[in-house]
Amino acid sequence: MPAQELDHSNIVEFIADIFERRGAESYLGEAVTMSEHMLQGAVLAEKEGAPEELVAAALLHDIGHYTSEFGTMSLGDERDNYHEEAGAHVLEPFFPPVITECVRLHVPAKRYLCATDKGYYERLSDASKHTLSLQGGPMSPEEVAAFEQNPYHREAARVRIWDDEGKQPGM
Ligand code: FE
Repeated sequence: MPAQELDHSNIVEFIADIFERRGAESYLGEAVTMSEHMLQGAVLAEKEGAPEELVAAALLHDIGHYTSEFGTMSLGDERDNYHEEAGAHVLEPFFPPVITECVRLHVPAKRYLCATDKGYYERLSDASKHTLSLQGGPMSPEEVAAFEQNPYHREAARVRIWDDEGKQPGM
């Protein structure tokens, strides 16, 4: 299905097809594939009885690694830089703000949790600890205050935790 023909009636099928064709790709530095990682996040959200929007956000949070699939709708490059912004951008026409904001904020949420939750950093995977420094390290107090202005910051922090926990081989 060409990306230009995407609408509310076929977006789920389109995304399912991406999972099927490309889900086995490796998740850099982690012991699970991309689809295992995203599905595990969704399962963990479901187990906690989270609202369906947050289950969907956990499932889709890394869709930005596949923005080239969305063709002209993608922000541009295929190197998947800033996959959180790119992912939110491709989902925006089809999903409500709570979902796209959780996707957009899943990297800042890691920096937020590192600044506000003692022990969170220690629970991160080695790969995730490594990328933290590339992503700017823990938030400063000013950045924390700004992050908390976002009406979806609590939801984004929950999605981030499921993201971190969804890296279990053989789950
Ligand atoms: Fe992730």
